[in-house]
Amino acid sequence: MSDTSFIESDERRALREAVAAMARNYGQDYYLEKARAGEHTDELWNEAGKLGFIGVNLPEEYGGGGAGMYELSLVMEEMATNGCALLMMVVSPAINGTIISKFGTDEQKKRWIPGIADGSLTMAFAITEPDAGSNSHKITTTARRDGSDWILKGQKTFISGIDQAQAVLVVGRSYSGTGAKAESLRPALFVVPTDTPGLTYTPIEMELLSPERQFQVFLDDVRLPADALVGSEDAAIAQLFAGLNPERIMGAASAVGMGRFAIGKAVDYVTTRQVWKTPIGAHQGLSHPLAQNHIEIQLAKLMMQKAATLYDAGDDFGAAEAANMAKYAAGEASTRAVDQAVQSLGGNGLTKEYGIAAAVTASRLARIAPVSREMVLNFVAQTSLGLPRSY
Ligand SMILES: Cc1cc2nc3c(=O)[nH]c(=O)nc-3n(C[C@H](O)[C@H](O)[C@H](O)COP(=O)(O)OP(=O)(O)OC[C@H]3O[C@@H](n4cnc5c(N)ncnc54)[C@H](O)[C@@H]3O)c2cc1C
Repeated sequence: MSDTSFIESDERRALREAVAAMARNYGQDYYLEKARAGEHTDELWNEAGKLGFIGVNLPEEYGGGGAGMYELSLVMEEMATNGCALLMMVVSPAINGTIISKFGTDEQKKRWIPGIADGSLTMAFAITEPDAGSNSHKITTTARRDGSDWILKGQKTFISGIDQAQAVLVVGRSYSGTGAKAESLRPALFVVPTDTPGLTYTPIEMELLSPERQFQVFLDDVRLPADALVGSEDAAIAQLFAGLNPERIMGAASAVGMGRFAIGKAVDYVTTRQVWKTPIGAHQGLSHPLAQNHIEIQLAKLMMQKAATLYDAGDDFGAAEAANMAKYAAGEASTRAVDQAVQSLGGNGLTKEYGIAAAVTASRLARIAPVSREMVLNFVAQTSLGLPRSY
């Protein structure tokens, strides 16, 4: 059976079942307990690494599974479906692992990919800046040459999991020192070990119940060797998109999983809860919205699988459009599914015990990050429909 079939191959189905079985052993209770205690999910991360799930998309010769984004998104979806949507899965193997395996030197691949693949090394990703936000073209983190070294200066925000990472891939702008400054500032990617002098971070207090926290990151004249630069100094936009399309596919996978999780909780509850003469799930006021949520999640999943398939086939343009659409559709569908799940559980929808209230804030994340719903709509309006832009 071809990899582009609508029918999932036996191999992929087996992977799906294996990931689900592992994630079920931990489950949402484990995830939320860790979040409430301010601890990380090291046991889950290490097991996922050992079983080959984290590095499933990375090249075999560097310790990965040699499969693609389809498989990695499937891992993400099954973990989220079982209450363990780990953000670092989006960041470490999908963005960073992809960029380094596509554009890194052999030395860089040998140094970073095996650890990313088996989970013994986690790499955070830093593009967002306080004054640039969605407008990544406005980032001001600058890298200038000093002999063969680079000196990195700037500030990043909302950086997930840098406290649990050994390194962070920073998107900066290289300044060659020639020509007009604005013209000679080009986006460039640098791997920065998190213990490098000059790199500091402070947590942002979020109302998001997650074991993976967000940080402000300060780069104060961080000195890096020449080989910290990944890829070329002036091709970073293409390199970035090699990582950002997987990020969007993973954002979609996480949201699809969260939607499935919420619908599953709601279905279990309304099937047994009875306040009139039938279980409440028999009332169409509850069953129809849940059926609608299920349809919307399945449609979003289909677009996610299309995006991953196009990406794995090397169709970057097609993948970008599909990844944006999948991220949008999954974000909207999962937000609605979580809202309906809360409604289906009545008062229990807001208790700690039933765990669905915790998903309310988390479900909103898929509408904001890694790219907001409005920026996706802008992309589709301009790129798919050819409409003029307002900004
Ligand atoms: C939990 C979490 C984890 C994150 N992890 C990371 C990470 O690991 N690494 C990293 O680099 N970043 C990370 N981010 C940052 C995330 O990518 C940004 O929050 C996101 O890109 C939006 O940027 P912003 O928050 O600055 O919003 P803004 O850009 O200020 O946007 C605010 C609102 O304005 C809208 N808007 C902006 N411009 C337009 C426009 N032209 N047209 C219409 N509407 C517009 C947006 O859609 C949004 O609704 C994370 C964010 C969160 C919340």
